[in-house]
This record gives sequence, C-alpha cells and structure tokens, in this order.
Amino acid sequence: MNVLVINAGSSSLKYQLLNPETGDLLAKGLCERIGIDGKFTYKPQLPGKEKQDAVDVAMPTHSEAIQTVLNALVDPSNGVVGSMKEIDAVGHRVVHGGEKFAKSVLITDEVMKAIEECNPLAPLHNPANIIGIKACQALMPGVPMVAVFDTAFHQTMPPVAYTYALPYEYYEKNAVRRYGFHGTSHKYVASRAADMLGKPIESLRIISCHLGNGSSVTAIDGGKSVDTSMGFTPLAGVPMGTRSGDLDAGILEYLMNQYGMDIHEMLNILNKKSGVQGVSGVSSDFRDLGAAAAEGNKRAALAVDMFNYGVKKYIGAYAAAMGGVDAIIFTAGVGENDAKQRMAIASGLEFMGVKMDEDANNVRGEERVISAADSKVKVLLIPTNEELMIAMDTASLVK
Ligand code: ADP
Repeated sequence: MNVLVINAGSSSLKYQLLNPETGDLLAKGLCERIGIDGKFTYKPQLPGKEKQDAVDVAMPTHSEAIQTVLNALVDPSNGVVGSMKEIDAVGHRVVHGGEKFAKSVLITDEVMKAIEECNPLAPLHNPANIIGIKACQALMPGVPMVAVFDTAFHQTMPPVAYTYALPYEYYEKNAVRRYGFHGTSHKYVASRAADMLGKPIESLRIISCHLGNGSSVTAIDGGKSVDTSMGFTPLAGVPMGTRSGDLDAGILEYLMNQYGMDIHEMLNILNKKSGVQGVSGVSSDFRDLGAAAAEGNKRAALAVDMFNYGVKKYIGAYAAAMGGVDAIIFTAGVGENDAKQRMAIASGLEFMGVKMDEDANNVRGEERVISAADSKVKVLLIPTNEELMIAMDTASLVK
C-alpha cells in the first residue's frame, strides 16, 4: 500500500509518498511559492531515479502544485509508481482539530465542515490545510483521504491540565483552553520508545521533548498525553527559535504602551522576533548559536542556556505531574542532532534517576538509548517521523 502524505501551507506544500507497512519512502519533496510563481523540488528515493532541485513550475493555486506532484510521481522515466492506481490513499496533516477530533479521521463532507469550524483556532494554518484537501479531492476522485491533526493526540489531557485560570465562560463560549501541538510527533516517538524498551506503552510514563525550531515537551502517561507545554496556540511553553514561549501577560500592555504598538505588532514580536533569536540577536538556528557562543558571544550562550533550562524545568514539572518518569525522549532538529544540548538538559537530573552515558549520547539522528546502563530513567534519542505516523494512521483507517 502507498500513501501520499500532504502537508499544505498557505504558499507551500510538502509531500511524501510512502509505504506505511514497510516504512519505505518512495519520494518526497516540496512545492513553494504557490500563488506567486512556483518552485518544485522532487526527491525520488528509488535507485536510478534523478533528484530535482527547485525547478520553476507555474503554480497559481494548490491545484497545480498537487498536479505537479502527481505528474512527477507517475512520470514514466523518473516516477516511483506505474500509475495513479498505485497511490492508495492520501493522508493530510491538519493543524487544528479543536475538541472535535481526538483521533485521525476518514475525510467526509461532514468532517470537512467540522475542520472548517476549527479555522478560528488556527486562522493561518487550517484554511491552507483545507485548500490542500479540496485540491487533492478534485484531482484524485475516489481515493480515500484521511485528516491527521496536530492537536488530536493531546485531547486526552484532563481538565486540570488544559483549563486556563480565566473566567470559565471563555472556555465554554470561546473554546479557550490548552490544545497542544506536535501531537503526531509525540505520538510517534512514544510508540517507538515502547518498542525500543520492549514494554507495553500502557505501562510507561514518558516525557517527550520535541526540540526544533518550534519546541514542545509532553507528558505521556500510559500512552496518553496528559499535559503539554504548548497551549491555546504554539506560542506557549519553552523559548523557541523566534517564539517567546511562556511569559507574563502583563509585559504586553507595558511594552505596547512604551512603544505605541498595537496587538498585531506585539504578537509579531512574540512570534517572530523573540525566543533564542531575540535574546541572542544572532540567529534562531541553534547551530549558529553554538558557534557564536563558542566564539565568546555571551548573549548567544545565554539564549541556549535559557532554552535548555526551560526544557529541564518542564521535565521536572511533568515528572511531578505523573508521579515519576520511566523514559525521556529527545527528538526533532535540536533533540536529534545536538549532543551538547541533550547533555545540558539531562544533567543535574540525577536526583530523579537520570544518568546519561556520554559516549552513547555522542551521536546524531539515530534511534538509541543514551542513558547509562544503570540509569533508572531511560533517556532515548528517537528521530521523529511525522509523515510515517500520518501514513500509518491513514492506512489503518482506510483498511
Ligand atoms: P521545525 O520542523 O520546527 O522547523 P526542525 O525540527 O527541523 O524544526 O529543527 C530545526 C532546528 O534544528 C534548526 O533551527 C537548528 O537550530 C536545529 N538543528 C538542526 N541540525 C542541528 C545540528 N546539527 N546541531 C544543532 N542544532 C541543529
């Protein structure tokens, strides 16, 4: 079975064609500048097929973008399948499922309506996801499609974790609550962790740290998300590349008054100019920050330290929330690649049974245990694979 996984943004669209049964990736790539001019990248993964770096293809809408993807996949010389018949289903990443979706679902007209009703919760993302679904439906009639939500995995959080200490009517009338994001990634790595440890996921208390450009930490008790650091929006939690993470809401009024800013300007600063970029003044990329810190840049070092400290605090909080922890997972760009940051985050946690193995930790992008043999809490490095998770969910719903 082959599943096409689509992650549609407002002007870009990422795609992968994979076999969820074997985990084999057939092709992947990217459509960019949709609605502007159009750039197409195609990376077939089969031997003898040629990779294409960003070629110009006119993409006035998502429809041309998806058509371009399909053409490339079935191309007689450079494609990876013989015909469209070999694409059995499509899995769409959808950012926000609100309280309506606690699981992935087969897309029907009713489901489309419900996704549209979640648009106000993710006004930048959901409408683009919907455009991607509709374009696909028009070009692939009869092919089953599944929506996989970033928020769904976190719908198991109890009210004590998801309720904000605001007047309760804002939850009841306006759906203001913690939703959490990166759910597909947290779910995937937690299930891999259970496999790696050879234990049923129901028996494990896991803290998974998805540390990338956007970062979130999740407490997973018995396979269910019970708390997560992102909130009503992905702005909350640990400091990120350019997002502030948690902060005192009183700062907003103070700065808006000081600089005569309106709320849009303020939020632009919190989303795009804060985080490690804002503190360091150097970069949002942790590789640049590591290099700058090594050359003596104090603010770059402070930014990295703040990030590591923020993640460590969430680990402590979630261990307390679950009454202990059996495994800590590191994943995503920073979590998978930066041994130094993993060490900085996990060191000092010996009091709660975490003991790292420096040699085992000295690795990048490879599934492995990085804690010492006698560590009570297992620390795991697990590369995330959101596309595979989407394809697996899609396959199980289509069958
Ligand atoms: P997202 O999916 O949120 O855009 P990723 O998970 O791809 O982000 O993570 C991107 C971040 O990972 C980069 O901004 C960079 O800071 C970090 N990163 C990637 N590779 C490395 C590396 N080798 N060392 C340290 N950090 C890295």
